[in-house]
Amino acid sequence: MDGLPPRSRPLTAASSSGVAYQRTLKNAIDCVGVGLHSGHPVKLTLCPAPVDAGIVFRRVDLGVDIPARYDLVTDTKLCTVLSAPGQPEARVSTVEHVMAALIGAGISNAVVEVDGPEIPILDGSAEAFLFLIACAGTVEQDAPLAEIVVLRSVRVQVGEAYAELRPYAFGLDAAVSIDFDAPAIGAQAYSLLVTPESFRDELADARTFTLLHEINAMQAAGLARGGSLDNAVVVDGAEVLNPGGLHSPDEFVRHKVLDAVGDLALAGAPLRARLIGHRSGHAINNQLLRALFADDANWCLTAGTAERPNWLGSAGSLAGARDHRLALAAAPS
Ligand SMILES: [Zn+2]
Repeated sequence: MDGLPPRSRPLTAASSSGVAYQRTLKNAIDCVGVGLHSGHPVKLTLCPAPVDAGIVFRRVDLGVDIPARYDLVTDTKLCTVLSAPGQPEARVSTVEHVMAALIGAGISNAVVEVDGPEIPILDGSAEAFLFLIACAGTVEQDAPLAEIVVLRSVRVQVGEAYAELRPYAFGLDAAVSIDFDAPAIGAQAYSLLVTPESFRDELADARTFTLLHEINAMQAAGLARGGSLDNAVVVDGAEVLNPGGLHSPDEFVRHKVLDAVGDLALAGAPLRARLIGHRSGHAINNQLLRALFADDANWCLTAGTAERPNWLGSAGSLAGARDHRLALAAAPS
C-alpha cells in the first residue's frame, strides 16, 4: 500500500444502468499559438469525430493522420512526440497537454488538426484547451465507452525514477511525487482521482516548468525558441522568475500529474487504474503503457458488457483494435 486514501467514485456520463457513453465535440473550434520548440505560429482546430474514432491528430499541411496511440510515440525527451504509422518524419509534438484536456473533459473521439509539426504551447497548461472544448460544447454519442481495466500491477523503473499502474476500482487515481535540487521546487507530492471536475479545478491550469540554466542549453540546441515567461514557469534556484508567481505552491507536481494524464491517454481509452509515479516523465509514462499492453493478462476492456467489443477481435492488441477503429473513422460519413 502507498498510504494514500482512496477517493470517492468519479462522475462520468452514465445512463441509469451505469454505462458511460462516448463523447465528442459539438462543434469545431480553432486557435492560433506558437510551438514551444519551433517558435513558429501554428493553427489548431479541434473537430468532432464519429463513434470509435478515438483521438486522431491530423497534419493538414501534410495530409497525414496520426492516431493518438502509445505505440506511435517516437520521442519523449522534452515532450511527447507521435509519428504516423510507417512515416517517422510525419510527426506531431507536445501532444500531452491537449490529450490531457480532451480526456479530462471526457472526450472519447476528436480530430486535432494542426498545420505544422507542433501543438501550440499556449500558456503551458491545459486550461486554454479546456476552454476551447467548453466553447465548442460536447455531446454524448450512441455507443458505450470502453475503459481499460488494469488487472495486474505493472512497473517501470529507471534509476530513482519509477511509475507503476495498479488495479483500482474507479477511474484513474494518480499519485505523483517529484524531487528537484532547485529550492523553489524541492520535494512535492500530489494525488488526485481524475474526473472532469477535479481535472478542471485542480490540474488544468498547472503550467509546464523549466530551470533557467536548461533554457540556454535548449536554445543552443535549437529548441525552446517559442519559450517565454508567458508559456512556462521558469525557476532559478529558489526563485520563480514569472512576475505573476505560481498558480499554486505545488504547481510543479500538479503539472507532472497533468502530463501523466495526457501521456496515459495514449492508451486509447480511459484507464481504470491507480498510477504511482516518482520523478517520472514522458519516457517512463510511455514505457509504462508499453509494459501494460505487453501482456494481455495485465488488462481487459469494459464496454458496458462483459464481452470484448467486436472491433477488438479475439486476440488483438488495443493498437490493432484502434487501427480498425480508425479505418471506420476514415470511412465517408
Ligand atoms: Zn507538460
